[in-house]
This record gives sequence, C-alpha cells and structure tokens, in this order.
Amino acid sequence: MKKVLYAFIGIVVVVAASIGLLFSTFTAAKLVLADVAVGELPKASPPAEMTIIALPTGMMESRAAFAFRGGAYDDVRQFSMTAVLVHHPKGELIIDTGFGKNVDEHVKLLPRMMQSMTTYSKLAPVGEQLAANGVSPAKLAGVVLTHAHWDHVSGLDSLPNVPVWLDKAEVDFMAQGTSNTELLNTMQGVNYKTYDFDGGPYLGFPRSRDVWGDGSVVIVPSPGHTPGSVVVFVALPSGARYAFLGDLVWQMDGIEIPAERPWLLRRMIGENDAEVRENIARIVAVHKKFPDIKLMPAHDARAFATLPVFPGSER
Ligand SMILES: [Zn+2]
Repeated sequence: MKKVLYAFIGIVVVVAASIGLLFSTFTAAKLVLADVAVGELPKASPPAEMTIIALPTGMMESRAAFAFRGGAYDDVRQFSMTAVLVHHPKGELIIDTGFGKNVDEHVKLLPRMMQSMTTYSKLAPVGEQLAANGVSPAKLAGVVLTHAHWDHVSGLDSLPNVPVWLDKAEVDFMAQGTSNTELLNTMQGVNYKTYDFDGGPYLGFPRSRDVWGDGSVVIVPSPGHTPGSVVVFVALPSGARYAFLGDLVWQMDGIEIPAERPWLLRRMIGENDAEVRENIARIVAVHKKFPDIKLMPAHDARAFATLPVFPGSER
C-alpha cells in the first residue's frame, strides 16, 4: 500500500514541477543579445512614383502573454493580418497575403489549443481589394512571402497565377510537410519563384537580394521562425524606410524589451531558438542605430495602423 502512495506522491510532484516549469517560460526574461555591427545606411534610389499601401484582410485577437515572454494575460492584443502593396514602376509586389475568403476553413488547421486562444475577424481578401482599386491582380510581379505559414498565405487564392516568391530554404522546409505549412502545400497550381541572396551584407544581415537593383526593396534571410523566413526592407522616395519583419517577433515588445516568444509557443511552432535570437539581435541593432527605420512585425496592429490604406498611399 505504501508503495502505491509513494508512487502517487511521485507522480503529483513530477506533474506539479512540469506545470511550474511550463508557466515559468511565460515569465519575463530579457534576452541578452550579441552586439551586431550594422554598418552605414545602405544607399537607395527609389523612383519618384514608388508607394506602399496597406491591405488589411482581418485581425486576430490574442494576449500579450502568448506573444512575448513577460507579456500580461489581461493585455489583449490585436494581431494584424495585413498585406502590403509595393507599387514600383518595374513591377508591383505584395508582401504576404493575410486572410483569404476561406479563412474559416484555414483556421481549423491550427492546433486546437491555439484555436481556443484566439478569435478573429475578416475583411475583403487582397485580390478583391486590389481589383476594387484599379490594380489588376494578374499584373502583379509577385507575392513576396515572409514565410509559408498559413496566416500569411490564406489570401493567395484571391491572386491566381501570381508568382509566389519564396526563399529556397522555405521551399525545402515545406517539402518536410509540417502542419503550419500544410495550407500552402495543399494549394494547387501555385506558381513558385525561388530566389537567391546574391547581394552582400545589409544592415547586419550576411546576405541580401536587391529586387529592383535600386535599393528600394531588399530581402534578407532571417531564419528561425521558419528556416526560410525573410525580412523585407523598403525604401521610399520620401526617404522613409520600413522593415517588414514577418514573424521574427509578433509584437514590437519583442524588439523593444527585447524578448522572445514563450517556450511553449516556440515548441508549437517548431522554431530554431538560436537563429531567432540572432536575428532579433540584428534588428535590435538596426533599431538602435537607425531609429527612423519603421519596424513592422507582421502581426503588430499598432505598427500597421500607421500605414495608409486605399485610396491613400505612403510615398
Ligand atoms: Zn508564422
């Protein structure tokens, strides 16, 4: 009888310790990051006609506690699901697509626990917004995905035949068939266009791709959240500069504190923690040296609220 009691106490202790450990990963822990030399501000000569426009496709409501370590549970945060149109005379690009018309189906691909932690609302898909404002989706040069997760590709079905630009590492990652990329894997007839980072170092990132050759749109590898995640830097004719961070962090707090996502979320996503930290360090260093570069975590609704939507545009 005593043996059973001891075994029971043992199990209770192990379970309690595990729960304690799990909760401790939601507590505040400032990241200690290496200093990164970001160099000078890279030259850019964007054409005078170049603009960017936000295309909000919906919103997800979650909590700061899930977005970054130390975030409060009662701190409700809006997660933007916003595509960006980069209008350039050499070609129009879309950065990510946000929610599409079948998002109700797409959400069901999320782990049940994640579904239970969020609610969402939806707006018109990217393709409809473009068409309603005189931009023919068929004429887009491409959709630059920051990564292949479902909430960044859900709206692709409103942009048929548009080339989807992906880092080669992300294509290889998708081939492994992980659940977060299942949606893109099951989309039929996607016209993929992979690219290489054939350019030199850029703001502390080791390699880069200058899309139009004028420094106006520069993509850099930012692996960790997924192996082929990227950051897209945009320079506008006014001199304004943006860094579209994808899901390197979900909210600006991740850079400002700086803080990583709670361990539980990192494991659910399957992130490479060391690589995420390395790239947070790069963006923190960029932010320190060039505070005027506007940082745009894909799901920070407050950051995206600063971008104009149709019929406006930012020059
Ligand atoms: Zn993601």
